[in-house]
Amino acid sequence: MAFVVLASVSCGAGEPVASPASVHETPGSTTPVSASDSTSPSPTGPPPFSAKVSRVARDQLPYSWRPGCPVHYRDLRLVTLTYWGFDDKPHTGRLVVRKTVTDDIVTVFKRLYGWRWPIKQMKLVDAYKGDDYDSIDADNTSAFNCRPATGSSNWSNHAYGEAIDINPRENPYVTASGSTAHQNAKKFAKRPVSGKGVVNPGDKVVKAFSRVGWEWGGYWSGTKDYQHFSKGGG
Ligand SMILES: [Zn+2]
Repeated sequence: MAFVVLASVSCGAGEPVASPASVHETPGSTTPVSASDSTSPSPTGPPPFSAKVSRVARDQLPYSWRPGCPVHYRDLRLVTLTYWGFDDKPHTGRLVVRKTVTDDIVTVFKRLYGWRWPIKQMKLVDAYKGDDYDSIDADNTSAFNCRPATGSSNWSNHAYGEAIDINPRENPYVTASGSTAHQNAKKFAKRPVSGKGVVNPGDKVVKAFSRVGWEWGGYWSGTKDYQHFSKGGG
């Protein structure tokens, strides 16, 4: 599979830290932001944030993409990036988004990692055969999925690769009457609420997305989609 590195972000001075993420070791793919970065982690500390953007092969999206989707898979990109886990350790996750928004995503997730803001897990929705319900039930953070908006026949922003759902168990989709379809999310149906990976109104996570022009579904009137961030709202 041919891939093209379009963007790469790394903070720190590139110490040879032990890392589960090998993505920043690809020759030529990494450009240190600053060689004199005084915030560099110690050699035994967590690895610096890294992100790699690559083209998507058809067979990487066996369930989430099909002919007739509003964005062709050739206009999508796979973003492989570092995130901070609920287990207080760094992990490598994968997201698929539209090629026009990869910088937005890398900018936000670099911030989240710097804050050690925790994410439960991050796999392509294809790991759940494209089933949004199963992905949410597994508390999986994901972006692209060629599907209609919930309760609508129109395409979701996820079908355009311009939306992401973050920690969907801790940040459920809640109807105007206050219910959620996921039993394991019921205790997170109200805001504000405290807990790991929760997004509350005014949080720095909301502000980080807002700075790149992405809006939060927690600000919708009536139905609230606390897990949902999308470019331009909707
Ligand atoms: Zn969503």
